[in-house]
Amino acid sequence: MRAPALTLLDLLNGYRVTQALYVAARLGIADRLASGPKSSDELARATGANASALRRLLRALVSFGVFAEETGGRFAPTEIGALLRDDVPGSLRAGVIFYGDQRHWQAWAKLEQSVTTGETVWGPRAATAFFEMNTKDPEGAAIFNAAMTSLTSAFDAAVVAAYDFSRFGTLVDVGGGQGALISSILNANPGLRGILFDIPPVIEGARKRMAGSGLAARCELVAGDVFASVPSGGDAYLLKWIIHDWDDEQSLAILRNCQGAMAPNGRLLLVERVVPERIDPGADTQSILLADLQMLVLTGGHERTAVEYRTLLAGAGLALARIVPTETPMSVIEATRA
Ligand code: SAH
Repeated sequence: MRAPALTLLDLLNGYRVTQALYVAARLGIADRLASGPKSSDELARATGANASALRRLLRALVSFGVFAEETGGRFAPTEIGALLRDDVPGSLRAGVIFYGDQRHWQAWAKLEQSVTTGETVWGPRAATAFFEMNTKDPEGAAIFNAAMTSLTSAFDAAVVAAYDFSRFGTLVDVGGGQGALISSILNANPGLRGILFDIPPVIEGARKRMAGSGLAARCELVAGDVFASVPSGGDAYLLKWIIHDWDDEQSLAILRNCQGAMAPNGRLLLVERVVPERIDPGADTQSILLADLQMLVLTGGHERTAVEYRTLLAGAGLALARIVPTETPMSVIEATRA
């Protein structure tokens, strides 16, 4: 067993690893290795990096199993490192760039402030301001929207496998971002029609992403504000990573709008990380509780337990029917009209 002191020192390395991965992603190292292993000199010439410093970065990432160093000092991505490539199915490059980008990074640097005040690093109820980034900071918005699409790719197959969407006629993806999840669901369920709903700038991006996907005839794109109204008459309302962004009062407003819009026998489906009542150490639980801190720092929302979801849903006239686990830390929380 690793000594407690060494284990604690290992835990301190998180931010260093994040930045090392971020720089490798920014420089497009994995993409440049797609055609075969290369030396740090070759990679440095291609990226404009310092060859010696780049070699140090890559060897550090070799120690984490992201790249492998082959004979002759050439580097190749491992299965994990291959996910840093852009434009491969399941690419996490945009997700890595979001984690390491200074906007997100600087926010986490103020975690102590959030823990002291109980508010986001920008003050109370920051989610609205956070999403306004879409109009005020186009570069930040592009990083965020691409990150959601990218990070979703780590979970969408598991959601599609765990939950039977084929029994619905129309599925509304509320706050569906650029349409990654609804595209996977529609591709797996040819009889289903979709409505992708999000704020206007995100829908504009989705239109570009989904053009030519072959789903245009089956997926309507609707821009709007979830606090005003959502498209009505759907058989299922899917909200992935939406409710966790908001406090209880704001969440209730969103849920009531969905409750009022859904077909009589409709279902509301939250895709979220359900916080266990009792916390035991483990990677999946860590990912849930760090997502909760993310909400503390960035949006003012939080991750919730099953009991908290049941209570919240009840407040919006909805009854929690069941929680369907997936092979990932994501669950599908299914609710009906109460
Ligand atoms: N469901 C997607 C995106 C989650 S991020 C996924 O899981 O990948 C939260 C989403 O909520 C963003 O796409 C954001 O643009 C959208 N959103 C935020 N405020 C909104 C509002 N007022 N009305 C509609 N959508 C909103």
